[in-house]
Formats: sequence, structure tokens, C-alpha cells
Amino acid sequence: MKVALVGIGKIARDQHAPAIAADPNWELAATVSRSGRLPDVEAYTDIGAFLAARPDVPVVSLCLPPVPRFAAAEAALSAGRHVMLEKPPGATLSECRKLADLAQASGVTLFATWHSRAAAMVEPARAWLADKALRSVVVTWKEDVRRWHPGQDWIWEPGGLGVFDPGINALSILTRILPGKAHLTEATLEVPENKQAPIAAQLRFHHPSNAPVTADFDWRQEGDQIWRIDVETEQGTLCLDGGGASLLIDGEPQTGGRDALDDEYPTLYAQMTQLIASRSSDTDFEPFRHVADAFLLGRRQPVAPFFE
Ligand code: NAP
Repeated sequence: MKVALVGIGKIARDQHAPAIAADPNWELAATVSRSGRLPDVEAYTDIGAFLAARPDVPVVSLCLPPVPRFAAAEAALSAGRHVMLEKPPGATLSECRKLADLAQASGVTLFATWHSRAAAMVEPARAWLADKALRSVVVTWKEDVRRWHPGQDWIWEPGGLGVFDPGINALSILTRILPGKAHLTEATLEVPENKQAPIAAQLRFHHPSNAPVTADFDWRQEGDQIWRIDVETEQGTLCLDGGGASLLIDGEPQTGGRDALDDEYPTLYAQMTQLIASRSSDTDFEPFRHVADAFLLGRRQPVAPFFE
């Protein structure tokens, strides 16, 4: 299946292009980006021009930042193309809903991807937790923004999400593995004086079990990076670490996840193949709803200005 990549930046180069190249079901037919391009791939700078010139490309994979993404997604769906969205699926929940409705009306597939859900040990963690009684859930997602997002000014602007850009990965895993639905009750957003988006956030959720569920996101982490979810249950403890790559149950390392050679983005493209074949969509916006709730309910705390 031919696919066009839109927004040739870090994630398109690091993950999407190699995943497409490695999968015999896919062919990278074009790129659309104002300045970015990939070797030996036909390049467009405008989505409208691409859609008009290449009706033979049925799938468009959008790797733009969230704010400019909606217009491209709307244009592609309206032109009858199947669409993959990078996370987060948009800049607002209303945009996301509109895209899901448009895909349905157009009879095409919309896949709102959550790459962290495709991490090796997420499904084994979900399976283990399914019949457990929760005591507490602690999410710790701490990374160095200078290391992972160099030069990405959009990430600090309205709609860029700040620390929720990685934090939503944790929420995408949490909403997949927890039995029962939690909802946000409290948030603190630490916002640098010279930025629009938070550099750190602390969240608290209500879960039907009454087990405390908390999350601590921080972009000021130097040294070891932490992407971990610790769950204490009546029947034992679970630690999902490395962003979902490793799993400890009662301190014992577990195996049985996806093949080690298989990684997140190849899994997403394999899922897209299946969605198109079954004429269905996958539009779970729940992780993004928690982020929206944090921005609605969060107490803003100004912190020291941030300079890259
Ligand atoms: P990026 O490196 O900044 O690349 C995004 C590309 O989009 C830019 O190179 C730019 O290419 C294009 N673009 C079009 N309109 C833009 C605008 N108004 N502002 C900025 N860029 C614009 O970003 P990225 O890291 O690839 O992230 C893109 C999306 O992927 C985000 O939603 C992010 O959350 C997600 N993601 C990123 C990572 C990661 O590790 N970086 C991991 C997973 C998911 P042109 O200038 O050529 O148009």
C-alpha cells in the first residue's frame, strides 16, 4: 500500500520512514513538508497539491505537530484517503471528534495512534492487572527536554502540550492497562515564566476502586531517564518500566511480550494494514481527554524561565 508521510521532522525520520521501509506491505510514495524531504522520495510542500497530484496514494500518515495537523487531516479525509495521526491526535478534543466523524462519513480509516501502547510489555501488564484489586498506582515520567526535544519551539506554545507531550504516552499506557476507568480530580502545572506550556505536572485521579492514582511528569530530569508505572495490588506488585519495554511482577522480570525485534512503529503500521482491511477506525481519545482535564482543572504555578 502506498503511503505519504506529512511533516518530515524528528519522528518521521527516526521511526516512520524506517518502519515503512522494513514492511513489505508498505511503500513510501511521497512526502509533504515545507522544507523537510527524504532521499529518493517524491516531495511536495503543500498537502492540497499532493492530494490533487497523487490520487494513487490511498494512505496519509501525519507527523506534524498537533496544531497544524487538523487542516492536513481534514483535507486528506475529505479527499477519501485513510489517515494515521501521530499522538496527540489533535490540538483540541473538538478537532479529534470532527476528524472521527469525517472519517466515518467518508468511509475511510482513521487511526489515532498511541505508539507507547505498542511497547513490548504493555499487553502483558494489562493481562496481569485484569483480575487484580488495586491498592495504588504511581506514574513517574521524567525526562530531559533538552535531550529529546532540541529546537522544538512549537512544544512550548499553546497546543504544544509541554511536558504532556511525553506525559500523554504514560496516560496512553495507563488507560490501556488499568482495569476500570480513572478520571482526573486535581492537577498542578508548573509553567516557566517565559513559556505557555508546563515543564512539569503532578496529577491525581479518582479510580472506582478508590485506590490512589497519581502521576508525576517532569522535563527537568538529568541523568537516568524515568518512564515507569508502579502498581500495588492485593495480589502483588507490578512495575512497568522503560516506557513499557520491561515488566517486573513482584520484582521478577517477565517475558512474553512482543518479539524483541518488533518495535512500536512497525506494530502501528501493521495495525493500520488491519484497520484498512477490516474497513474500521481506531479513535480512542481517552489519553488526550485526561490532558484536557488537567489543563481545565490544573493549578498554574509559575517557575523559573526555561532556556534551551
Ligand atoms: P518536529 O521534529 O518538530 O517535526 C515536525 C515537522 O512538522 C517539522 O519538521 C515541520 O517540517 C513540520 N511542520 C509543519 N508545520 C509546522 C509548524 N507549524 N510548526 C512546526 N513544525 C511544522 O516534531 P516531531 O518530534 O517529529 O513531532 C511531531 C509529532 O510526533 C508530535 O505530535 C509529537 O508528539 C509526535 N512524536 C514525537 C516523538 C519524538 O521522539 N520526537 C515521538 C513520538 C511522537 P517542515 O518545516 O518541513 O514543514
